[in-house]
Amino acid sequence: MITETKRTSEELIAIEEKHGAHNYHPLPVVLSRGEGVHVWDVEGKIYYDFLSAYSAVNQGHCHPKIVNAMKAQAETLTLTSRAFYNDVLGEYEEYVTNFFDYDKVLPMNTGAEAVETAIKLCRKWAYEKKGIAEDQAQIIVCEGNFHGRTTTIVSFSDDDNARKNFGPFTAGFISIPYNDLNALEEALKLPNVAGMLVEPIQGEAGVFTPDEDYIERAAKMVQAAGGLFIADEVQSGIARTGRLLAVCKGCNCDTPKCDSKAGFKPDILILGKALSGGAYPVSAVLANDDIMMVIKPGQHGSTFGGNPVAAKVAIAALEVVREEELAKRADKLGNIFRAEIQKLVDESDLLVKVRGKGLLNAIVINDTEDSSTAWDLCIKLRDNGLLAKPTHGNIIRFAPPLVMTEDQLHECVAIIRKTVTEFRK
Ligand SMILES: *Cc1c(COP(=O)(O)O)cnc(C)c1O
Repeated sequence: MITETKRTSEELIAIEEKHGAHNYHPLPVVLSRGEGVHVWDVEGKIYYDFLSAYSAVNQGHCHPKIVNAMKAQAETLTLTSRAFYNDVLGEYEEYVTNFFDYDKVLPMNTGAEAVETAIKLCRKWAYEKKGIAEDQAQIIVCEGNFHGRTTTIVSFSDDDNARKNFGPFTAGFISIPYNDLNALEEALKLPNVAGMLVEPIQGEAGVFTPDEDYIERAAKMVQAAGGLFIADEVQSGIARTGRLLAVCKGCNCDTPKCDSKAGFKPDILILGKALSGGAYPVSAVLANDDIMMVIKPGQHGSTFGGNPVAAKVAIAALEVVREEELAKRADKLGNIFRAEIQKLVDESDLLVKVRGKGLLNAIVINDTEDSSTAWDLCIKLRDNGLLAKPTHGNIIRFAPPLVMTEDQLHECVAIIRKTVTEFRK
């Protein structure tokens, strides 16, 4: 007979340390339950989640609608592979392409896989539609980017830690400074440019938010030069920034078909993370027929991509975004959050600035990049009941689930205020 012994946080951290690869350095807190904006550790302490699994859990933890969709499909049919049709994938493909206004979707699982897919798609299009000589295509990327962890993707990262001793790398990328249209103009004069891959807000780099018109102008320049504009909205998309997509401008309605988008649209859109509300790995690449149809049977795929559970989960996750008006909520709460934290920045020597859009925000700590201040502050936030994690440099990202209420947000601001005010380096 197996007797269940409940392990403590300390014991659980120790077994991970012993048996798991050390490719992460988690904040010391062991979570065992989540609901909405809250998570609980194994000792029963409750926290506000201010990371939302890197913006995968925009719809809140264990959203009942998403969980029920997953349960029902898991009991019916989980995987057929794409060797056969299933009765759910088509429904999802119709739903997601209507939702984001593209002809076609290519379903994958993780964000990195979707980025890889977009790169392959852009290259194949460049050779077959644009006439670039074989193996010569170049894709423009930005310094400080984060697009995932595969060999090709780290090939164009400028994070030493992500690259060191993982070479040889994939060629065919031109890196330019982010938020710099002059640099883009110069890069577009180089031969064989097939397109540009960019994050509308650089999340991992520390929530770098470019000038208001940068993304739209960059897109139009790339398109005018005959290339494809590829938006990686894995983190910034799906209502996180107060818009359905960060590339949308003006209103915070939940459809990219609306007029305020004013004719600008990425040629290739990459989604992941909150596409499933954090319930399941679901990613997608969206494009119109003239681009997507260059990929023929056998040229790309994934055993789990587009499986029935993923399809049902993604439909439910997007319905929640629309039904609960998450873009509107993120926009409103984000404005309150930045205004409140700005007051704290003005009062405290510890903070340099707050920046971001919607509920994707960060505070920059007044200290050297290699100091542990951001980490130490996150430990104190944890003690006070709020979980956040430092990003590159001395920066803390704040990205709670979008289902938060205004009262809860004020409670969280109070926790941050108390923690910053009491903090001693
Ligand atoms: C998280 C992230 C990815 C990678 O997604 P994974 O699911 O971790 O592979 C790619 N691009 C951006 C902008 C991301 O934030």
